[in-house]
Amino acid sequence: MAKVKGAVVVDTEQCKGCDLCVVACPSDVLSLSKEANAKGYNYSFMSSPDDCVGCAACAYVCPDACITVYKVKI
Ligand code: SF4
Ligand code: SF4
Repeated sequence: MAKVKGAVVVDTEQCKGCDLCVVACPSDVLSLSKEANAKGYNYSFMSSPDDCVGCAACAYVCPDACITVYKVKI
């Protein structure tokens, strides 16, 4: 059976740094950036991209729909 790996893209300008996706991720993939976006929020990014399994828990909890999840067969 093919393994599935995931990747997420965060809309960094829409993100308000609420941390919900960071907490929701079962694989500790996401962290809040030390850099702020144009609105002054520390946006979410993939700090451990290799651990993403594409479960979409992060996208599900994001109140602003900033996260798009991609699944890749490897
Ligand atoms: S898709 Fe799942 S594993 Fe990947 S960053 Fe989101 S919550 Fe974490
Ligand atoms: S849940 Fe959405 S708004 Fe909140 S930190 Fe994550 S990407 Fe940003």
